[in-house]
Amino acid sequence: MFFDTLLARLSGSEIEAVLAHELGHFKRRHVLKLMIVMFGISLALLALLGWLVQTTWFYEGLGVRPSLVGSNNGLTLVLFMLVLPVFMFFVTPLGSLTSRKNEFEADAFAASQTDPKDLVNALVKLYEDNASTLTPDPLYTAFYYSHPPASQRIDQLMQHAA
Ligand SMILES: [Zn+2]
Repeated sequence: MFFDTLLARLSGSEIEAVLAHELGHFKRRHVLKLMIVMFGISLALLALLGWLVQTTWFYEGLGVRPSLVGSNNGLTLVLFMLVLPVFMFFVTPLGSLTSRKNEFEADAFAASQTDPKDLVNALVKLYEDNASTLTPDPLYTAFYYSHPPASQRIDQLMQHAA
């Protein structure tokens, strides 16, 4: 992503390298793939919701008494939204892993189109601006990081440069 403050600090060739990275996402169809996956997940969750509304254990398990005569659609939706984050927690590392893989692919594309050292320099400036740590906890990184740590990205880019 480009921020105007970052843009002011990058040289012309560094801007090209960052742009090549973003085009790498486009070239590898990352956005399209993500949209398809999100569409599938949404459909599955809606199907699950449609099934849960007909059960009794879902309400009983959460200590709620459903209406026996009226509609429980609103109640089910609220309970579902409350419960969902607990289960999505276990999906988080999978999403992070996929996202980090995509970042490496976009970096590799940028390295094939521009001088990898330009992207390295741009990354260093980006991390300086964000004041983010260069030595994040490996477990926390594996679980939550959508982007690989700077050191790993720079390592990979330098291999492309060599
Ligand atoms: Zn990216």
